[in-house]
Amino acid sequence: MDCLFCKIVAGEIPSTKVWEDDKVLAFRDIDPQAPQHIIIIPKEHISSANEITEENSSVVAKIFETAAKIAKEQGFSENGYRIVNNCGEDGGQTVGHIHFHLLAGRNLGWPPG
Ligand code: AMP
Ligand code: ZN
Repeated sequence: MDCLFCKIVAGEIPSTKVWEDDKVLAFRDIDPQAPQHIIIIPKEHISSANEITEENSSVVAKIFETAAKIAKEQGFSENGYRIVNNCGEDGGQTVGHIHFHLLAGRNLGWPPG
């Protein structure tokens, strides 16, 4: 399958890994939008939030658990952070493998977009 993030999971494309276990991978975004910008993905290919089902949704909980762990490890849990999922064209999704942006290190402003 021609999926950028599946290739990162397979090690065919290099990444700066922040966390890895059997279900989830987290790595630094190549074009950071904040001092800390980490992408968290399920290792399993799920193309977008539209494809979350009763069968695969437990990995989303794992991803949020991972985000909390990374925030503590990287030292930004107290100052705060943002977790973002872009879905589809209007959502600004550019990679067709579901991913969650973990952004921190500056005041992020609201509303986004
Ligand atoms: P989205 O626009 O929500 O689909 O986010 C895709 C994100 O993937 C963007 O923030 C890109 O900078 C990031 N990205 C694209 N290619 C790579 C790569 N090879 N390694 C790390 N991050 C990447
Ligand atoms: Zn994929």
